[in-house]
Amino acid sequence: MDFRYRDDQLAVRDAVRAFVRERIVPRAAEWSERGEFPLPLLPELASVGLTGLTVPTDLEGAGLDALTTALVAEELGAGDGSIALTLAAHNSLCIGHLLTAASAEQKARWLPPLARGDRLGAWALTEPGSGSDAVAAKTTARRDGDAWVLNGTKQFITNGAIAGFTVVIAATADRRLTAFGVGADNPGFRAGKREQKMGLHASDTSQLILSDCRVTDADRIGEIGAGFGDVRKVLDRGRIGIGALAIGLGRAAVETATAYAKERKQFGKALAEFEMIQWKLAQSRTELDAGRLLIHRAASLADRGLPFTRAASEGKLYATEAASRAANASLQVLGGYGYLRDYPVERIVRDVRLMEIGEGTSEIQRIVIARDLVAAT
Ligand SMILES: Cc1cc2nc3c(=O)[nH]c(=O)nc-3n(C[C@H](O)[C@H](O)[C@H](O)COP(=O)(O)OP(=O)(O)OC[C@H]3O[C@@H](n4cnc5c(N)ncnc54)[C@H](O)[C@@H]3O)c2cc1C
Repeated sequence: MDFRYRDDQLAVRDAVRAFVRERIVPRAAEWSERGEFPLPLLPELASVGLTGLTVPTDLEGAGLDALTTALVAEELGAGDGSIALTLAAHNSLCIGHLLTAASAEQKARWLPPLARGDRLGAWALTEPGSGSDAVAAKTTARRDGDAWVLNGTKQFITNGAIAGFTVVIAATADRRLTAFGVGADNPGFRAGKREQKMGLHASDTSQLILSDCRVTDADRIGEIGAGFGDVRKVLDRGRIGIGALAIGLGRAAVETATAYAKERKQFGKALAEFEMIQWKLAQSRTELDAGRLLIHRAASLADRGLPFTRAASEGKLYATEAASRAANASLQVLGGYGYLRDYPVERIVRDVRLMEIGEGTSEIQRIVIARDLVAAT
C-alpha cells in the first residue's frame, strides 16, 4: 500500500488551497448572510479549472482523476460549504452523469461550455414524493415522434434556479428511469420555490417544474429505461466528493478551534492546556484523518477501475458523521463565542449537517454496505 500522493496531485491541492484562502474564505460569511450564490464568482472559479475538474482536457476540462478531485473537494469544503456544494452538483452530478452515460456527440456539445463555466450545471433526481426511493420518480417522459415531453416536479435541486443546463431524470415507464439534458431556456422548464435552509445559505436549492417540456431524442442521455443504473454510478462517485467536502468542513472547524484554544485563557491557562479540550481536538482530528483515508481508498479504487460502491458508501458514511462530530466539538471548544457568527464554526455546524443527508442518507449508506456484505458472505 502506498500512502504517498503524486507531485501533480499535491500541486493541484496546494493551488486550490491558495485560491480558496485568498478568494473564498474572506468572503464566505458575507455570501452566507446575503443568502444566494455569488454568480460573479463563477468566472473566477472557471479561471482556475474548478468548473471542469473531471472533464477531459480535449473538451476543455482539467482531466483530474478521482483522488485529485477528492483533494480539491476537501479544500473547497474547508473554504465554504456552499461554494463547495455548488461545484459538487455541477462537477460530480451534472458533468458526472454526462461522463458516465452521454454519447461522444453529446459530450462534445455539452461539456466544453460547462467546463468553461459559461453555464452552471444541475442534476435533478429527487421529487417531492421520492427521495431515498429515487426509482419511484413520478416525473414522466412521453415519446412524441422524435421528441420527448417531460412533465413533473423536481425537489431540492442544487443550482436549480441558476443552472443553464440540467440533467433531468424522468420515468419512461413505471420504475424505469431515463435521463435528458435540458437547457434553462426551454419554455417548458422553470424554477419553482427556492428553499430556505438551515445552512448552506449561499447554495441555491430550488424546485424545478417541467410542464410539457419538449426535448429531442438527441437530448436523451443513455439507454431508454436504463437511467437508474447510470444514477447509481454517478452517486458512487458523488459520494466520494461529498465525503471529501465534509472532511474539509470538519478540518476548518478544528483548525479554528485549535487556534482559539491556544489564545483563550481561563483559570490562568490557555484552553489548549486542559485535558478535556485536548481530548476533543485529538478525537476530532483522528476521526477526520480516518474519514479521509476511507474516502481516498474509494477514490483510489475508482482510479484503478476496480469496484468501489461499498468503499464509497463506507467513506461517505464515516466521513460525514465524523465531520459533524468534529464541527460540534469545535463549537464547544469556543464556548459562547462558538455560537456567534463572529467565527465560522456555527456556520460549519449548520452546513455540514446536509452531508449526512444529500446523495444518499447515512441510513441508505448503511443499507448499501450491508447488502454488499451479505451478498459477499
Ligand atoms: C440542500 C439539499 C440539496 C440537495 N441537492 C440535490 C440535487 O442537487 N439533486 C437531487 O436530485 N437531490 C438533491 N437533494 C435531495 C437529497 O438527495 C434527498 O433529500 C435525500 O436523498 C433524502 O431524500 P428525502 O429528503 O426525500 O428523505 P426520505 O427518503 O423521505 O427519508 C427520510 C428519512 O427516512 C430514512 N429512510 C428512507 N428510506 C429508508 C429505508 N429503506 N431504511 C431506513 N431508513 C430509511 C432516510 O434515511 C431519512 O432519515 C438535496 C437535498 C438537500 C436538503
